[in-house]
Amino acid sequence: MVRNLWTALLLLGSATCGSSVPVSQSPDPEQSCPYLGECNSTINEQHIDTLMSYVDSEQNPCEDFYAYACGKWRARHGSHTTATMISESQINRQYEDLFLQLLRNPSAPEYGYPMYAKVLAHYQSCLVLEKPDLRRYIELLDRELLASLSSMHWMHLLAALGRYGYHGHYVQVEVRWYNATHHMIFLQPHNHHLNLTLTEDIYDALCQDGSSWPPLHQLQEQFKSLEQNLVRLAKPHSADDTFRNYSLEQIRTAVPALQWDEALRMQLGRTVAGDHVFQVDDLDAIKGLVEYLNTADTLLLNRYSLARFLSHLLELPHNPLATWRTGQRSRGRSCIRHMRRSVYLPMNYVYERSFYARRRHADELVIHSVFQQLQSQLEQRVQHNVFNLSQELVNSLQAKVHQMRINVGNLPPNVSEQFYWHSDRRWSVGSDFYENHLNSLLYYYTLVADLESSSDQEERDIWYSFNMHTPEFPDNIDATPYFYCLGNIIFVPYSYVRRPFFDANFWPALLYGDLANTLGHEIMHALDTDLVDYDARGNLRNFSDQLGVVELYQGGVGCLNSSAVMLNERTSDVSGSRLALQTYGGDWLTRSGNGRLYFLQFAHFFCGDEGDQYHDSGSQRLNYALGQVPQFAEVFGCHVGSGMTSAEQCPFW
Ligand SMILES: [Zn+2]
Repeated sequence: MVRNLWTALLLLGSATCGSSVPVSQSPDPEQSCPYLGECNSTINEQHIDTLMSYVDSEQNPCEDFYAYACGKWRARHGSHTTATMISESQINRQYEDLFLQLLRNPSAPEYGYPMYAKVLAHYQSCLVLEKPDLRRYIELLDRELLASLSSMHWMHLLAALGRYGYHGHYVQVEVRWYNATHHMIFLQPHNHHLNLTLTEDIYDALCQDGSSWPPLHQLQEQFKSLEQNLVRLAKPHSADDTFRNYSLEQIRTAVPALQWDEALRMQLGRTVAGDHVFQVDDLDAIKGLVEYLNTADTLLLNRYSLARFLSHLLELPHNPLATWRTGQRSRGRSCIRHMRRSVYLPMNYVYERSFYARRRHADELVIHSVFQQLQSQLEQRVQHNVFNLSQELVNSLQAKVHQMRINVGNLPPNVSEQFYWHSDRRWSVGSDFYENHLNSLLYYYTLVADLESSSDQEERDIWYSFNMHTPEFPDNIDATPYFYCLGNIIFVPYSYVRRPFFDANFWPALLYGDLANTLGHEIMHALDTDLVDYDARGNLRNFSDQLGVVELYQGGVGCLNSSAVMLNERTSDVSGSRLALQTYGGDWLTRSGNGRLYFLQFAHFFCGDEGDQYHDSGSQRLNYALGQVPQFAEVFGCHVGSGMTSAEQCPFW
C-alpha cells in the first residue's frame, strides 16, 4: 500500500515537471587511461562514435533511457542481435580463418605446440561430414557389450555409457564440481523430468544390429510404459531435495541388489574405497528403482539405454549432425561451435596462443584493478552492516567477498606448457568424426573422474582456477562474465575482453561504464537471494535462513521483487550499478561528458537484448537499474517524476 502511494505521488509530480533536455552532442570525456601509462585515443574516439551512432536523439533519456541509448541499434544490427552475439560470432570467425590458414600450411610453427595438430584433425573430420550415420556411434562402443544386450546387466551398459558423461536414466552416477577445491560423485534416481523421444533416425540406427526388433510404434509404446514405471519409482518421497553424504559402504548396505563396485570401476576406470563419500539424493528411491529394474526385461532396458544415449549425443550443444541438413553451407562455423563445447581446453589453448596472449598482460592489469576496487567497496558495505545481522554472518559474508577470485580468459592462469602437453597426450584424435566426438567426451569425463580422486595438490589448484565447461554447458552463460558459486570465482570469457565491452585502452568513463558494472553485477550475485547460501569455499551453508528473519533485508528484497521477473538478476543489476558508480567515484560527475558516456557505455551492453529464461529484457533491466541510481538523473538533468525517476528506491546491499 505504502509503495503504491509513493509511486502515485511521484507520477503525480511528473505532470507538473517539464521534461529534461535530451543530449545529442558527442560527450567530451576525460582522456586518460587509469591503469596504463599511454593509451590509444583512436580506439576511444572510434568507440564513442559507435556508441553515438545508436543514440536516437528524438527520444528523451529521462523518460526511457533504453529508447534513447539503443534507439538506432535495431536499424544497424537487425532484431534478435546483441553485442554479445556479435562478439561471439567474431570469435568463431577468428577460429575459422586461423584453421583454414593452418590447414593450407602444414609446416606452420603452430604444429610444434601442443593441441594444434589434434584440434585441426578434429576440425577436418567435422568439415567432411557426410549424411549423418548414427549407427557409427553405436559401433564404436564396446563390441563385447553390444553382443550381449539381452543378457548383460542394465547397470553395466549404463556404466559404459557413463564413461562418455552420459547419465540421466535408471540410476545416475555423475562426477560433479562440488566446492572451491573438490569434485564429488553424485548419485541420483532416474531423472523423471526427461522423456525419450524415439525418432525414426534413432530407431533406424539401433535396429541394424542383426537381432529382431519390434516395429517403431510398438517400441515407442514399450519405452513409454517403462518410463511411466520409472517415473513412479523415482518421484521424490518427500519435499526434501538436499543431497546427503553416504559412504560407498553405506550405499552397498542400503542397496545390496546392485554390484556397485563393478559399476563404479567400469565408469570411473578405478576402484573406489568403501569409506569414499558420495553425495546421494533419495537412497530409498534408488533402492526401489534397482529392485524394479533387476526384474524387468533386460533386452528392453538395454535398448532403451542405447536410445537415450543417441538422443543425448544429438542434443549436445552444436552437434553438427543435428543440423547437418540445414547447415551444409556453414559447416565450418558449426564445427567451430561444436568444438568450442566438446574440446574446450584445446580450443581455448589455441585461442590464447594465437589471439589473446599478446593482450593478456595489459588486460589483467586493468581488470584485476577494477575488480579489487569493487571487492573492497563491497567488503566495506558488508562490514557496515546496515541490515544489523549477527557478527558471525557478517564475518562469513565478508570472507566470501574477500576471498572471491577472478579469472580472465578461459584458461588456468600461469600454467606451464608442460600442462598442455600432458593434456594433449590424454586426448586421441583420428580421421572419423564419430570417433573423434566420442573421444572428446571420454577425454573430458576421464579428466574429471581422475580429478575427483587425485591428491596432487599442484594439479588440483590448476583445475580449480578456471572453468573447464562440461560439453553440455549452455551458450548464453558462457558469453559474458559470470559468478560461479561453487568456486567463489568470477570467470571473464574471451568474448567479453574485447570491444565493445572492454579495451585496456578505454578512458575511465568507457572502462567503468561496462567493466565495473558487469563485474559489479557478478560480484553481487555472491550475495543474491539464492547464491548467498554458499560460503567463501563454495560450501552450501544456508545463510538465507538467517537473512529470512531480518525485517529490513526482507523489505529490500520485497521492494525489488515487486516488479521483477527474475529477482536475482534485478538485485545484481541494482546493487551492481550502485557499487560500480561508487567505485568510479571521484569528481567524474563534475564533467558531465564523462557521466553521459559512462551511462551510454553501460546501456550498450543491453541493446537488442530481448531477455531469456533467466533475464528480463535489456530495456527493462537497464531502465530499472538506472532508476535506482540517483546519479543518472543528476547527469541527464531528469526531473522528479520522469519515467526514469519514478521507481521506488529499494535498499539492498
Ligand atoms: Zn546475472
